[in-house]
Amino acid sequence: MKLSGVGASEGISVARVWHLKEERMAVAHLEGQNAASEAARFEAAKHKAIEELTVLFEKAGESDPETAAIFDIHRMMLEDPDFCEGTAAGIDAGHNAEWAVEETAKMLHDMFESMDDTYMRARAADVIDISGRVIRILSGASENTAMPSEPVIVAAEDLLPSQTVKLDKNHVVGYVTKKGSLTSHSAILARSMGIPCVVGMGDDFDAIPETGTMIVDGGAGAVIVSPTGEEIAAYERKKAEYAEYLNMLHKYKDKESVTKSGHKCLVCANIGSVEDAKKAKDSGAEGIGLFRSEFLYLDSPDFPDEETQFRVYKQVLETMAPCPVVIRTLDLGSDKQAPYFNIPDEDNPAMGYRAIRICLAQPEIFHTQLKALLRASSYGRLRIMFPMITGVRQVLEIKRHVAAVRAELEAEGAKIGEDLQLGVMIETPAAAIMSDELAKEVDFFSIGTNDLTQYTMAADRMNARVKNIFNSEDPAVLRMIEITARNAHAAGIWVGVCGESGANTKLTPFFMECGIDELSVAASSVLKVRRAICDSN
Ligand code: PEP
Ligand code: MG
Repeated sequence: MKLSGVGASEGISVARVWHLKEERMAVAHLEGQNAASEAARFEAAKHKAIEELTVLFEKAGESDPETAAIFDIHRMMLEDPDFCEGTAAGIDAGHNAEWAVEETAKMLHDMFESMDDTYMRARAADVIDISGRVIRILSGASENTAMPSEPVIVAAEDLLPSQTVKLDKNHVVGYVTKKGSLTSHSAILARSMGIPCVVGMGDDFDAIPETGTMIVDGGAGAVIVSPTGEEIAAYERKKAEYAEYLNMLHKYKDKESVTKSGHKCLVCANIGSVEDAKKAKDSGAEGIGLFRSEFLYLDSPDFPDEETQFRVYKQVLETMAPCPVVIRTLDLGSDKQAPYFNIPDEDNPAMGYRAIRICLAQPEIFHTQLKALLRASSYGRLRIMFPMITGVRQVLEIKRHVAAVRAELEAEGAKIGEDLQLGVMIETPAAAIMSDELAKEVDFFSIGTNDLTQYTMAADRMNARVKNIFNSEDPAVLRMIEITARNAHAAGIWVGVCGESGANTKLTPFFMECGIDELSVAASSVLKVRRAICDSN
């Protein structure tokens, strides 16, 4: 039987299914308790939980920064005022600490789950995770670390980060979950471990039997339960073919990405962290074409300060040197909200207060990031890119800010990279239409086909009901790209593509015809794209 979900990490696995049952303890409800002693029990349990998380954080350490970051978030969530005050209110009303924690967690879980923002929705699982830890400590139980000693595909309602690290990674060959999305931590972890994963299976998940063989096809978002011998054989072949295909692509690592007619196109990677940069380098990327710096802000409880940002940018530049690195200034707003920005709800957030609009309206935020970027610029070949540009006036204003920050740093004796370039994203029809004028002001363009498609086709990129209209191959979108490339080259600047369609190899010949100078894609697509360039005329 074939079931489906969201393919969150590519690859195929055939193995026995192993259900990771929720180990949540039953919580007794007691009333008329002594509030002071329950409060003290809660405080002690919370501190113990933070200690446990610190051990897990250090265990994950530098070798697994994504997992470490999750435990760091958990430590912060334990200190969160909503969690602590909610629990304190329950204790003050005479309930036992376990009950107060459980009720607060349920309330916060439901609140997160009802949010529109997919990142925040994914935090519902984290609330359950941290509260389960505190309740276990309150009850005096120790952690359960049971795990099969043979290869298994783990099936779970929602794979909690703390459960994931407890699993023996040598034996986990796949993940399937009922809940979760592409941005849930289970999906992030599966991708970081390179294990096939299908998340968000919904009702299909209930059809997974308790035991037996199962197949996960992470690329197709497919799960085959109780497969026939023929199906197993077919998928084993598909798995071997996939491994062979990945192997074959390796030869493109040492091959220049040049078309048959001699056009050289750099293939770079899109990243969101230092760790991604290391993976990008190993995957054959010839640079970074898009570092979505807003992920630094999203993974932080407050504005990341200049020093924190500087260290991250420097590390990415050093990792990739001498290859170029395009770092995009923060593109928050719309589907990417950091709570401490306090952006009020908007009717049309995709067309609202976001990205460069925030930076120009709140220059203190912009200057902190520009300072960190300029300071890091001498450690590699930095290209700073500005998102959501709609006109030349914005670019002139940006350049005034950059000049002011540069002057300030130079007065302090800081060294600024000589090879520094400034560029803009072309992701609005306004920018594409005005690209002849914009090209006179910047060193490069990078076309963001995700937003360019959304705004050109007037089709929300997040809305599955209009997915047929949100078509990045539509002639209207292709014409925008053609116009942009022509205007860039006429002005003598380079032009790249960093939206998802950069990895659509059906479009590679079109991009090469337009003379696109750089394609920036997910690290896992780099070699596939390098091959498609070599095959183009
Ligand atoms: C784009 O819009 O194509 C792009 C690369 O930016 P993001 O997907 O981060 O909006
Ligand atoms: Mg965009």
